[in-house]
Amino acid sequence: MGDVWTMAEQYKGQLKNVSFELLARGRSLANKLGTKLVAVLIGWNVSPADMRELILRGADEVYSVQDEGLKEFTCGTYAAILLDLIREHKPEIVLAAATTSGRTLMPYTAVLAGTGLTADCTALDIEEGTGNLLQTRPAIGGNIMATIKTPDHRPQMATIRPKSTRPLDADPRRTGVIKNIALKDSLIDERVSVLGLRKEGSDFVNLEEADVVVAGGRGLKKQENFRLIKELAESLGAVVGASRDAVDRGWISYPHQIGLSGKTISPKVYIGIGISGAIQHLAGIKTSETIVAINNDPEANLLKIADFAILGDAFQVVPELIKIIRQKKGAK
Ligand SMILES: Cc1cc2nc3c(=O)[nH]c(=O)nc-3n(C[C@H](O)[C@H](O)[C@H](O)COP(=O)(O)OP(=O)(O)OC[C@H]3O[C@@H](n4cnc5c(N)ncnc54)[C@H](O)[C@@H]3O)c2cc1C
Repeated sequence: MGDVWTMAEQYKGQLKNVSFELLARGRSLANKLGTKLVAVLIGWNVSPADMRELILRGADEVYSVQDEGLKEFTCGTYAAILLDLIREHKPEIVLAAATTSGRTLMPYTAVLAGTGLTADCTALDIEEGTGNLLQTRPAIGGNIMATIKTPDHRPQMATIRPKSTRPLDADPRRTGVIKNIALKDSLIDERVSVLGLRKEGSDFVNLEEADVVVAGGRGLKKQENFRLIKELAESLGAVVGASRDAVDRGWISYPHQIGLSGKTISPKVYIGIGISGAIQHLAGIKTSETIVAINNDPEANLLKIADFAILGDAFQVVPELIKIIRQKKGAK
């Protein structure tokens, strides 16, 4: 049986945290199958220490293809490299993050490899008896969870939502092999060259990476009141999030939406204000370290599951919080 592979993502030579999240997923699958877990790294300037971190956090081997020409992600070249590795080593499973590059690379490679791909999985498991990968993801607008198999083709390929898994702690006792693989000239897609990268625009909302998120919902009553959420976020250095209801009403743009049909977040602190805590919203916040809820209904679901529940009117509680935070900051 082939190994389990996870794609390690890097940006400007720094490994992205999602690389370690994938290793946590891959580790449990490899353990169930009794195979090795391999992290595949395509990029440039990733240090040996960072590659070792991949081993400490779950990989048995690292296949590292590094070249200055791979500094920026280009789909044709990256896919050709991945396909070349797949043809040579015949992995059982290949997992990547459902990030912009993962969502581009994986379907392109799957088509070239003649296999299937399940995008945006929230759960993965191994089917007893067959060893097939069970790939679960929301389907039909999120109304059902569908479990998809690829019984006839290999490798089985899937992308996983970032922030839906906690990375394993680095275990300094773990050992593994790092294989440096030279880039073959024949794999370079000469048709594409990167002239420059667009700067992240003002519509860029980095909710997934935020340490603190302040989110507002329908309880804010109207768009103007969302300013309270923004002010509280600003005082805390937080990123603004929202429920789908607030987004559907046009109070704030879609990139701010948290939940099943929005973003999955994993901040240290999530503060939900005027949000009831519908199951689809909770799907996006369940890996938050600390959940704070502000709601005037004692029966609100978010209050019940919160680590800190403030039962009260948002229009009284939030201005008071902003005042206290500003005072504390001023006192420093
Ligand atoms: C397929 C599908 C996908 C979905 N995807 C998502 C998703 O990604 N994200 C998402 O969020 N939802 C999603 N939903 C919608 C979800 O089911 C809920 O409808 C939505 O989350 C409700 O938003 P809300 O909590 O802002 O509004 P409500 O449920 O109306 O809750 C408003 C809350 O505000 C409180 N409140 C009112 N006034 C005040 C006040 N003055 N002070 C304090 N609290 C107050 C109320 O007590 C209430 O708890 C999805 C639904 C479906 C069917």
